[in-house]
Amino acid sequence: MHLDPFELHLPTSVEEAIALARTHSGAFDYLAGGTDLLPNYKMHLNVRPHLISLDRIEELRAFHPEEGRLGAMVPLRTLEAHPVLASRYPGIAQAAGEVATPLVRASGTLGGNLLVETRCFFFNQSHAWREALGYCLKAEGDRCHVVPQKERCYATFSGDLAPSLLVLGAEIEIAGTSGRRRLLLEELYDGKGDGIRRTRLAPGELLVRAALPAGAERGRASYSKLRVRPSFDFPELGVAVALAETDGRVDRLEIALGGLETYPRRMQAQTAPLVGEKLTEDRVRTLAEEVRKSVRPVHNTFLAPDYRKRMTGVFVRRALMALRSAS
Ligand SMILES: Cc1cc2nc3c(=O)[nH]c(=O)nc-3n(C[C@H](O)[C@H](O)[C@H](O)COP(=O)(O)OP(=O)(O)OC[C@H]3O[C@@H](n4cnc5c(N)ncnc54)[C@H](O)[C@@H]3O)c2cc1C
Ligand code: SF4
Repeated sequence: MHLDPFELHLPTSVEEAIALARTHSGAFDYLAGGTDLLPNYKMHLNVRPHLISLDRIEELRAFHPEEGRLGAMVPLRTLEAHPVLASRYPGIAQAAGEVATPLVRASGTLGGNLLVETRCFFFNQSHAWREALGYCLKAEGDRCHVVPQKERCYATFSGDLAPSLLVLGAEIEIAGTSGRRRLLLEELYDGKGDGIRRTRLAPGELLVRAALPAGAERGRASYSKLRVRPSFDFPELGVAVALAETDGRVDRLEIALGGLETYPRRMQAQTAPLVGEKLTEDRVRTLAEEVRKSVRPVHNTFLAPDYRKRMTGVFVRRALMALRSAS
């Protein structure tokens, strides 16, 4: 495995990065920590001749956890270890601390994690391996080996941070050729698309920061992860939960899941009916069962889909019981 030559650009402002993106339209990738992109390049997965590094853009490094503003280039190590972030948003700190290894977390960033490439064991393979089997829709081919058809890719969203930000109602700021815009993080992910183009970012747009709404720090939150090797594996399931109660009744209850489908999903239809209710053990069990039934993992990661589905119920129940009993 080797890296093909590429031209590296080092803009010092968001505007300069976007101008470079316009010049090299369709032939570039943004480069943050490179811990996902460069291993993929080494496997010759959708390689581009230009890399626009975000490393020298100060604005993207701004980090104000006390105001809930987290720049796209903030390293995961900072999210994991910063005391203010850990006390206000423990679920985010837990999720950051569960990504890969300490070395990867020193380079990997918030933005790169939210925009990490989706994964599939027919995709994350060397060029020779993929050539021998026959390429697939997501890189160079025209069929899917997991769900044989020609329309859609089912590669799994395997970033750890997104669920923990989704349950807090995070927004993101995006910059592009037509200016800046804000949207809910939930709206970034395109659950109805072809599974190949994994977000709703327009060509050339870049992520500037994530922002947590006022009051997101209220209550309790957690992130738990199922993986094969706890030392560094991607999630086979990631469960984020946020719970706020007043007088023993639910004010806010959010669950979001990663590692199961093509995008990280908020389980609002299942949690909304519990607002105003007491979160009894029976209700927790029923909710966990409803969440379990609604997920649709496919067989493209290491653990079998049936097992991941079953563990979804188990993880949701455990997380809710732990948060509830802490009240
Ligand atoms: C051994 C190993 C284990 C790993 N385990 C995990 C794991 O357990 N959990 C997990 O979540 N990840 C894991 N990863 C993947 C990766 O390390 C992390 O997701 C990391 O946070 C990616 O961030 P990065 O800054 O390195 O992104 P990069 O690799 O630089 O970029 C990732 C993608 O995001 C785009 N991008 C980055 N920043 C921006 C921006 N601001 N605006 C627009 N586009 C942008 C890039 O163009 C690229 O497409 C692992 C990687 C390795 C090598
Ligand atoms: S789900 Fe199908 S199209 Fe997508 S990466 Fe896997 S084999 Fe390729």
